[in-house]
Amino acid sequence: MNLNTQTLVFILSLSLLAQVIALFVQYRVVNRSYRGIGLWLLGSSFMALGFVFMPLVRVDSLLFLAMIANPLMALGQILLYLGIVQFLNKKEHRWMLSLFFSVFLLAYYHFMFVFNDISGRTIVVNIALAIISFLTAYTLLLEKRKFTSTSVKFSVLIFILYGAFLAIRVLWTMNMPRLQNYSDFTFFLNAGFIATTVASTLWTYGFILMVNQHLNEENRLEKEKMQLVFNTSPDASLITRFSDGLVVDVNTGFVSLSGYTRDEILGTTTVQINVWYSFEDRQQFFAKLNEQGFCENMEFAFQRKDGSQFNGMISARIITIQNVSHVISVVRDISERKRTEEALIESEEQYRSILNASPDDITITDLEGRILMISPAAKEMFGYELNFDSFIGMQLLDFILPEDVERARSNILRMYQGNNNKPNEYRGIRKDKSIFDIEVNSGFVRNANGQPIRMVFIVRDITERKRAELHIQELVQQLEAERNIAQVNSITDSLTGLANRRYFDLALNTEFYRVKRTGETMSLIMIDVDHFKKFNDSYGHLAGDDCLVKIGSMLKSIIGRAPDIVARYGGEEFVVILPETESYGAKALAERIRKGVEVLGIPHVSSETAAYVTISLGVVSVNTTYMISPKQIVAMADEALYFAKSLGRNRTIVSDNQVTVKIEQ
Ligand code: GH3
Ligand code: MG
Ligand code: MG
Repeated sequence: MNLNTQTLVFILSLSLLAQVIALFVQYRVVNRSYRGIGLWLLGSSFMALGFVFMPLVRVDSLLFLAMIANPLMALGQILLYLGIVQFLNKKEHRWMLSLFFSVFLLAYYHFMFVFNDISGRTIVVNIALAIISFLTAYTLLLEKRKFTSTSVKFSVLIFILYGAFLAIRVLWTMNMPRLQNYSDFTFFLNAGFIATTVASTLWTYGFILMVNQHLNEENRLEKEKMQLVFNTSPDASLITRFSDGLVVDVNTGFVSLSGYTRDEILGTTTVQINVWYSFEDRQQFFAKLNEQGFCENMEFAFQRKDGSQFNGMISARIITIQNVSHVISVVRDISERKRTEEALIESEEQYRSILNASPDDITITDLEGRILMISPAAKEMFGYELNFDSFIGMQLLDFILPEDVERARSNILRMYQGNNNKPNEYRGIRKDKSIFDIEVNSGFVRNANGQPIRMVFIVRDITERKRAELHIQELVQQLEAERNIAQVNSITDSLTGLANRRYFDLALNTEFYRVKRTGETMSLIMIDVDHFKKFNDSYGHLAGDDCLVKIGSMLKSIIGRAPDIVARYGGEEFVVILPETESYGAKALAERIRKGVEVLGIPHVSSETAAYVTISLGVVSVNTTYMISPKQIVAMADEALYFAKSLGRNRTIVSDNQVTVKIEQ
């Protein structure tokens, strides 16, 4: 057989093209999951291109392409190496590779442009390719994962052999006389082409094998995971043949739910073992499956081995196992849920009947306060028609005054904490926007575990009660006011506003015994208007009253000290109690009063004493220790006053215990 170089290059290009196509297909299939395949594709393409360009050394116009043929080969090989690094998730030393490639380019073009030497170029190219081959083999050797070991070993072998071949070629070239022409080493050139064709075909095969071993491993893991999920799922899962319902696989969930053992059920059909309670259900299920290829959460009644029934929720999907349509179904036992639902509906029916019969507003809401049920009485209370049903879903808080909403919210929170046992009062809003007072009692409806599931509010219209309360409050206030007035009246003289005789008696009594205990001296001033009868006669009774008012005001303004008490004793007589006051102080005060009346200057034409109204005063200052009753003091003061009158009026007489001393005007 006569193989010339051109034919070989052509064959090699074709083989590389085939590899590129194979890698491209692989790339399309698993592109997303694996890194590196793209680089293999690119590397192989560069190598193919390099080989295609090589023979162009004979075409003058395309010589430049031949000049980059070897660098393209080397770059292609580097990319293949990088692809392997990425695929195996190893560290990429990009800049090292770039450096390596740059050195290679420098050396290669040195032997082309600076020192044109075919041997030199051949050695540089082969050394570079040999290094990359060994590096690739080394990187592959580091891969320890079991599932790819065959393909990895295979690839390692190819790269070592190819590297060894290149190394031999280097040695051979070095030991040869310098090549002048490519035709000088046709044999080795051809051997190189053949070796590259074989090696690249084999390593591409190795790559594809590696990718597929990866895929297989992933599929196996996926399958294992699926199997695990299938087997450990608490739901009942079964796989049946679509055409006849033949049971292919069941999980433990199915075994425990149906009561059949695995062996009993495998190989039979779902019809034979009567899984379906009703044949119509099965038909409906399959119709749905046929229609859309899957069904989700359909509820049917199923049957156990012992003939007992249960409610199940089934989800299913048509899958293809070894080219045959199968159905994978998952059945969940929902009997418990159904029972709870039914119980709930039943209890809700009970609530409803209670609600309908109740004269009170009973509102049941969910935990967010949305109204679920409401009694007819409530509708009436809030001014709605009995057939008004739009309450459902509305917020309970929408029916109370916005100002009260925050308080209501915090009361609901307190209810969760268990300390809102007392009724709360709010202002409700009727349909016509009128506002009325309500009293709300609230509580939870709880499930069997004690968890709150609903809120119950019993609302009472307390408008009447509030009105009554307000009325009572008003009455109480009124009474209070009256009582105060009466009390003030009972101790006050209505004409002068001074304390009255009653108050005086009480106060004197209290002060007397208090001072008696402390041993202090107390004084009393008794005052009588002079010739007042005549004043009345001259000016009339009303003017007389007016005169008394003026004297009263004057007394009030003078007697300012806290414990001192001034009172109207009766008629035109006044009295001043001065606890803890010595005779000297009392006398001075009495004089101030007397002068104060003079200063008032109320005209009194018929007075025998002066042209204006005057008063006479009797002062008494006593140590109460040995006195028996307060009356004695009054008597003494009276006596002193009498004395003042008899001495010509408009004067103060001080009585010092037993001795009465006259004070001249
Ligand atoms: P004197 O004390 O100087 O001996 O003569 P008097 O005229 O004041 O004597 P008496 O005590 O006998 O008279 C008191 C009079 O005061 C009798 C009464 O007409 C008058 N009087 C008593 N209370 C009131 C009153 O509330 N208003 C008026 N206008 N006069 C009264
Ligand atoms: Mg009098
Ligand atoms: Mg008098």
